[in-house]
Parts: sequence; C-alpha cells; structure tokens
Amino acid sequence: MDSFSYRTGVLFAEDVDVHSIAEQVGTPVYIYSRATCLDHLSKIQQAYGELDTTICYSIKACGNIHILRFLAEAGSGFDIVSGGELFRARQAGADVSKIVYAGTGKTDAEIIEALDAGIGYFNIESEAELENLIRLAQQQGKSAKAALRVNPDIDPGTHRHITTGIKETKFGVDIERAQRVFAQYAGNDSVDLCAVHVHLGSGGKTIDPYVQAVRKILLLIDTLRRQGHRIEALDLGGGYGADYESDTVPSASDYASGIIPLLKNKKLTLILEPGKSIIANAGILLTRILYTKTGGSKKFVIVDAGMNDLIRPALYDAFHFLWPARAINAFVPPSRKKELSMEGTEIVDIVGPICEGADFFARDRSLPPMHRGDLLAIFTAGAYGFTMASNYNARPLPAEVLVDGDTFTVIRRRQSYEDLIALEV
Ligand SMILES: *Cc1c(COP(=O)(O)O)cnc(C)c1O
Repeated sequence: MDSFSYRTGVLFAEDVDVHSIAEQVGTPVYIYSRATCLDHLSKIQQAYGELDTTICYSIKACGNIHILRFLAEAGSGFDIVSGGELFRARQAGADVSKIVYAGTGKTDAEIIEALDAGIGYFNIESEAELENLIRLAQQQGKSAKAALRVNPDIDPGTHRHITTGIKETKFGVDIERAQRVFAQYAGNDSVDLCAVHVHLGSGGKTIDPYVQAVRKILLLIDTLRRQGHRIEALDLGGGYGADYESDTVPSASDYASGIIPLLKNKKLTLILEPGKSIIANAGILLTRILYTKTGGSKKFVIVDAGMNDLIRPALYDAFHFLWPARAINAFVPPSRKKELSMEGTEIVDIVGPICEGADFFARDRSLPPMHRGDLLAIFTAGAYGFTMASNYNARPLPAEVLVDGDTFTVIRRRQSYEDLIALEV
C-alpha cells in the first residue's frame, strides 16, 4: 500500500496536495508518508506474529531521526552499519537491545561505542573481526552477543552491486567455514556467539531464495546444535521486495508463508532487517521541470533534481516510475507499470542538471507533454534516496518532509550555501 494518489488529477501525499509542499519548501524535496511506513511495518509484524520475531529496520535505507522515532515507537528495532547510524538510532530513542550491527569494516571506535551502548547483536563478517571484538570487549570489561554472518551461496538474481549472499562477495563466511568459527570461538566469556545471520542482498522477485537460504541455514544450525553450541537466533537480513514497477513483488505475508513453517518449533528468535520494503514506497522525490529540449531524435525533460539527489538510476540502472503531479484526468496512470504508453503521451528522457551522462532518472519514457514549471513525482524514492544523496556540483541537499494525514512537517531543512562550506574551517 502507499498513500500517494491522484485526486481529480492532482497528486496527494496522504491528504496533502504536493503542490502546497513545493510552494512552501521548494524543490527538489523528498516527501514521506508516515501512514505508509507504519502500514508496512505492521504488515511485517502481523505476518510473523506467530514466531518470536524482532524487526530491525535498516537505517541505511532512510535514516531521518523523525522517521526512526515513530518506527521505534511502533516497536521496531534497528539494523545499523556504522557508528553514525548507532548515533542516529539513539537520538531517535531506539531500544538499544533491539539493535543489530552489520558491516565488514567496523572500526575499534565504532565497536567500543556499540559495546558501551549494549546493542543486541554484533553481526560478525570475519574471524578477524570476531577476534577484534573479543579483544575490545575484554579490554573494556563488557560482554556482547554475536551472530555469525554466513554466506549461503544463493543468488537472488538481482544487480551485481546488490547481490551479497553468493560466495564471491566480501560479506560473511562460507557455510563450511562457519562450523570452524563456532568450534573456535563459541563459549568465549566476553562474546557469546549464539546466532546466525544471513542477508541475501536486495530486490529478489520471488520468495524462493529466502526459503532456500532458511533451509540451508537450518541444516547448519542443526549441525551446530548437535556439536553442542547454543543457537538462540536466526537473523534473516533484509532485501524483501518493494514495489518499484508493478504489483508483482511478494508481500510480507508471502515471505512469511514460506518461512514460518520452516522455523516453527525451532526455538529460534527470528530477526528481520527490512529496509526498502518499509520505506521505498513511503517516499517520493518531487522535482520541478526547468526546461525541455530536443536533441537529434530525442526529447529531453530537464528537472531540478539530479543524480546527487537520487543516484539509484545512475548506480543500479534502477527503474523508478515517474509521473506529473498535475495530470490531465485522462493521463492519470492506471497503475505503475513499467511500460505505459497511451494516446497523447510522448517518449522522453528525464534528466538532471549535472555534468554527467549518468545524470538521468528515466530513458525513453512515455509521459504526457510537460512544460517548464510543472512538478514531476519520482515514485518509490524513499529508500536509498536521501541517504545516498551528495553535495556533488555544490548542490545543497534537498529538504525532507513528513506527511501525516492533512499536515506536513519539514523533518530536515534544505541545506543552504553556508552549510556547504560550514565545515571548511
Ligand atoms: C542493506 C541491508 C539491509 C536492508 O536491505 P533492504 O534491501 O533495504 O531491505 C538489511 N541488512 C543488511 C545487513 C544490509 O546490508
């Protein structure tokens, strides 16, 4: 579900006309729907209700503390990948015992911060990291729980940059190696290695890779238990589909229906780390058309957002549905389908203002005729949108706005030119 819909041809975020946001806050602007985030979270909570489940929203998808705060209030824990994200989670009032910390390159300072905070699990990616964690925990007189990130060697069939569960990646250790790691390190006084973590990477289109991964990992857990190790939790990571281009990605209950039967009576706490399945559809990037121009046989629509604001198309070839915020009635899209050509539309490239060929949002897309000053909504931009934005070309970062019913709040103001140089002391 999402709460961005057209009412008599005008795009609303919940009950707010997006034009009023553009007028007051300017463009480009990220707009999030609170109800959509909470709806996605509660659907996951409900889907896994019969298991002992901790949901740890993945902060790297979208980390604004105001969003983290209401997710925490609704019972979410957090998946972090850095000291900065730990700081964000704590600022947002997170329950630190529901924080899991992944990442191949945790620094000593970050590990000590997480030990001090008393997070739930360190998700360990290598023996060297585990040894370092043990050393630091002993040095600090702290104890911690750890999950070993295991590589199930399953390819969810997505883009090579976002596939993380196959053998040739920098993440985790092979299943064969996992037994040796447990044999060597489980039973340590400072660090209790008592869980297994797996994260397949993002965007799988079916539940099969997850079911396969759970099967493989359960075999490992059975073996480990037979060898006398206490395993209390299975962290299944994130990567659950979000609806970018159609209605075809599995829902939370689809995943749950494949996963729950395997985990029943296994006496395991299930940890999930959803990022984009919570926030992707809960956000749009609203941008204004600056110019249109024709070059050769192509027509270009140049907008005031650039790849520095939303890099997914440039980085991953990601598809984002986009559509004018004020559509002539006939042009209100029936659904967000990849190919949508109707009478009266034209084929255009939507590009940004940055001096890079990769600065585009869509190529050869069929859209109603658009003019300077019109607003264009880039949908499903809530995840890996703002968090991957940069100041490239000395462009101030866009504002972020949270809509709740018929009101909206600026939850991060637009950067100023002064902000751009503020740290250059
Ligand atoms: C990025 C990441 C996630 C979240 O992935 P989504 O595709 O946004 O659901 C979860 N866990 C880990 C370890 C990650 O690196």
